[in-house]
Amino acid sequence: MKDNGYGFNTTLLHGVDDDTPYGATTVPIYQSSAFKQPDAETLEKIFDNKAMGFSYTRINNPTVEAFEKRVNLLENGLASVACSSGMAALFNAMVNILQAGDEVVAAAGLYGGTVELFDDLKGLGITTKYVLENNPSNYESLITDRTKLIFAETIGNPKLDITDIELVAEIAHSHNIPLIIDNTVATPYLVKPINLGADIVVNSSSKYMNGHSNSISGILTWSGRFKWDYERYPGLKPYKKFGAMSYIVKLRNGLFRNSGGCLAPQNAFYNTIGLETLGLRMSRECENAMELAEFLEKDMKMSVNYPGLKSSKYHGLADKMLSNGYGAIVTVRVGSKERAFKIINALKIPYILANIGDTKTLVIHPESTIATHLSDTEKEQSGVYDDLIRISVGIEDIEDLKQDFKQAIENSMEE
Ligand SMILES: *Cc1c(COP(=O)(O)O)cnc(C)c1O
Repeated sequence: MKDNGYGFNTTLLHGVDDDTPYGATTVPIYQSSAFKQPDAETLEKIFDNKAMGFSYTRINNPTVEAFEKRVNLLENGLASVACSSGMAALFNAMVNILQAGDEVVAAAGLYGGTVELFDDLKGLGITTKYVLENNPSNYESLITDRTKLIFAETIGNPKLDITDIELVAEIAHSHNIPLIIDNTVATPYLVKPINLGADIVVNSSSKYMNGHSNSISGILTWSGRFKWDYERYPGLKPYKKFGAMSYIVKLRNGLFRNSGGCLAPQNAFYNTIGLETLGLRMSRECENAMELAEFLEKDMKMSVNYPGLKSSKYHGLADKMLSNGYGAIVTVRVGSKERAFKIINALKIPYILANIGDTKTLVIHPESTIATHLSDTEKEQSGVYDDLIRISVGIEDIEDLKQDFKQAIENSMEE
């Protein structure tokens, strides 16, 4: 890893020196389940965390490590662990430090899968309290002696509320609690949560980091800064001797290894290729999203939610906290589920599917799909309404997108 003062795009291309054989310009795919060692002693040392090295791909793999190093550099972490999906990364990041009886305080405007994960954790005796209105003081009022972590998304998917990471981190730390931030929608191109005080950052790299919808994966990044009270986090205590790395060593020697949510080397390879253009894609996608949001609000007189618009109540915070844009997710409320379906069906360019962060524009009706397993209250808290359309804006020519949305919206008004 090099801290050479490069800008974001140069860092994407040249930030990590891979020790590639034969002068290869891309990271080789080490499609190997296990790694042989010269002698029994070396393998013993690797298993005992006394030597660096690879043993078994469920624990680590050189291609996966190349991806981890890149994201670690981008998110300014001490160490990162790549997982088989964003959900696996979230599960590992949180359950690594939780046990029965613990409480989580979480923003309400979360990705539906994460709300469902919190529902699953209830079965393990871990309860979650939701912050309904995402402002810092509301987090504080839900903290109890049992609160062991605070969780939020930088930009909520699909609520598009924004977490004031700096202030929420201050509150969390004043109670000796770590803050975990899901940075999937913003990506480190817009903000690096660790620089604002977050302790662990999770990205679903299935989305913008991969960028081309060819692999499911997730990655968690540890800041190395949170000072654990090992009495409050007894699971970490046996790893105390690893100092700032205790959280990561516990994860790799415990939950991550034993729950088996490792990333396949082939998918890590796709991610390292996709990552090279993260800056270029995000820049274009954010620009397109801004222009499409303005067009839908001003010209088409729609009810649009986008942090880049002055009408968003998070616009001021977005201006303060984000650089390079406001993200590429736009939502529109169109009056009824029937009209939402009509508009979606009339669109010619966007794909109708459950994903975000592709080069192509994607649309979905969240209420009947990704949020369908949530209760009515959970839906409302997550900002999911039956007339809501979520648009993940791609890199197409903006005039084509505007014209396509125009014809679809006009179509939906005819009887
Ligand atoms: C998609 C997504 C996830 C889950 O990631 P997968 O890779 O699909 O498991 C988590 N958080 C957010 C914000 C997401 O958009």
